[in-house]
Amino acid sequence: EDIIVCRNVNKWFGNFQALKDINTTVKRGEKVVIVGPSGSGKSTFIRTINRLEEHQSGDIIVDGIELTKDVRNIDAIRSEVGMVFQQFNLFPHLTVMNNITLAPMKVRRWSRSQAEEVGLELLNRVGIPEQADKYPSELSGGQQQRVAIARALAMQPKVMLFDEPTSALDPEMINEVLDAMRELAYSGMTMMIVTHEIGFAREVADRIIMMDEGRIVEESPANEFFDNP
Ligand code: ADP
Ligand code: ADP
Repeated sequence: EDIIVCRNVNKWFGNFQALKDINTTVKRGEKVVIVGPSGSGKSTFIRTINRLEEHQSGDIIVDGIELTKDVRNIDAIRSEVGMVFQQFNLFPHLTVMNNITLAPMKVRRWSRSQAEEVGLELLNRVGIPEQADKYPSELSGGQQQRVAIARALAMQPKVMLFDEPTSALDPEMINEVLDAMRELAYSGMTMMIVTHEIGFAREVADRIIMMDEGRIVEESPANEFFDNP
């Protein structure tokens, strides 16, 4: 069952075409890793899938919802698709717990106690249950990124997008974030991941998409990709 469908997707920034005729589908539960040189459109591609960027032609359908210009449509997509960025993008003036509960309380209208119960479960799941009352600036980069993962999961998304989630981290913190992502992968989440962590890709990916100059230049099952270099 296809949960993400991209058909002939094109995107321009002014005169510059960042995505060229992107065609791909992602099945429910699939893990897709996107690789390619800097500037090849990887980030733009996944940002287009949750409508952080707008495509100008072609179709993107996520869990049956077609991305259109309609604002209500954007809200629907954002609550289906969680995203984790290179820079953790936490709200600096909110505690870890309040970072996590903000969106579910506002968008899903959960009570504070209900949201905090889920928040604590998620902090346990990413391995930092004791950090709930801290502010982001009091945490290490690896801890902040795990909060960002928990925050995205709190909205109970159907798909998780990751844009170089470990690229801003000191080397010793990369593994703790990859561990949280592994756990998520084994739980059956549908994931699209831009990363340079090839060992992680080899372990977790079902499929590799390689981009260059805005196009998908190769798309293959992970085992084929890694066995035929
Ligand atoms: P990657 O993630 O593969 O490094 P990006 O998707 O970030 O590539 O960028 C693809 C191309 O689009 C790059 O040439 C980049 O400079 C350009 N680009 C990205 N965002 C914008 C923007 N907001 N305005 C203009 N050009 C952009
Ligand atoms: P990433 O590859 O992780 O997206 P970038 O440094 O390429 O990081 O982009 C960071 C931000 O700057 C993004 O919001 C992107 O859209 C914007 N950006 C990237 N390239 C350009 C560009 N050439 N002109 C304007 N904005 C850009």
